[in-house]
Amino acid sequence: MRIAKTFAETRLVSSGEIGLVPTMGFLHEGHLSLIEAARRDRDNDTVVMSLFVNPLQFDRDSDLARYPRDAERDIELAAAAGADVVFAPDVDEMYPGEQLARVNVKRLSEPMEGPNRPGHFEGVATVVAKLLAGIRPDRSYFGRKDAQQLAIVRRMAVDLSFPGTIVGVPIVREADGLALSSRNIFLSDAERREALALSRGLMEAADAAEAGETAASRLTGAVLEQIREGSSVSVEYVMLASQDLVEPLSELDRPAFLALAAWSGGTRLIDNVHFDEAEDGFRADRGTRLQSKSVLYGNAGSREESRDAVDNRHR
Ligand code: AMP
Repeated sequence: MRIAKTFAETRLVSSGEIGLVPTMGFLHEGHLSLIEAARRDRDNDTVVMSLFVNPLQFDRDSDLARYPRDAERDIELAAAAGADVVFAPDVDEMYPGEQLARVNVKRLSEPMEGPNRPGHFEGVATVVAKLLAGIRPDRSYFGRKDAQQLAIVRRMAVDLSFPGTIVGVPIVREADGLALSSRNIFLSDAERREALALSRGLMEAADAAEAGETAASRLTGAVLEQIREGSSVSVEYVMLASQDLVEPLSELDRPAFLALAAWSGGTRLIDNVHFDEAEDGFRADRGTRLQSKSVLYGNAGSREESRDAVDNRHR
């Protein structure tokens, strides 16, 4: 596997069709599943994983400074998952001067995560545009875990005429259903147990939708029902939205996702199920589950250090 620090170097060591997996590092199996998806796709000759903590998408400098980094471990994990090249630029390569050109995907950035994270999606769309322009991938892989981000990236690529394809990859969950996130390491045992209500609720809603339920109120109700009063979980939003425009829906009548943000204790979590059109209604994409404990726990460094590091990441 090759490590490249510049766009030019990345293009030089990549041949044929390129599959790109953008990440901010501190990898877990969710990230690795994106690399594996790119590797499985026989049309990709070279799989490039980018590893860059993007300052533009943090609303607070302190969060950026504390973002967890372990490049050595990430490079090992990426190689084992099948990456050919890790593009790990310095900030100066990505932002040689002040970044005056910014990409803003209107409307799609406004609901759900929008109000909680001002400027975040502009930072994401801008860095992804730069990666697409600099690496020129044929296919780029993004997790369905960040459903709104995926919609924004897809729209940005269409509206700005980037030639490659954007591929959405199912959520990877722990064996008991909790969606993988670097922030899961902050959950106490009790908070983690209570956070399971979120994926349990989404799975109930998935079953209901596949049984023919289309009312958004019933689907969101199925999630809320799972969250016991007095538990440490407090919900910020549960919303059914269209996959393309992230428009709130009252009926499941087009490809959509049911997404939530909630706090378990001091940790903010997001999760969703996607509903894709099938012959006889909608099929729920519930994601995949790990058989064993995530690499996140074995390799996350000291718990206290990591807690400081990742805390507030999405706030
Ligand atoms: P990040 O490094 O957090 O910016 O994430 C990089 C990519 O990994 C994004 O496309 C995320 O959607 C994806 N990702 C993060 N967690 C998961 C997960 N549990 N399952 C699938 N993809 C994920």
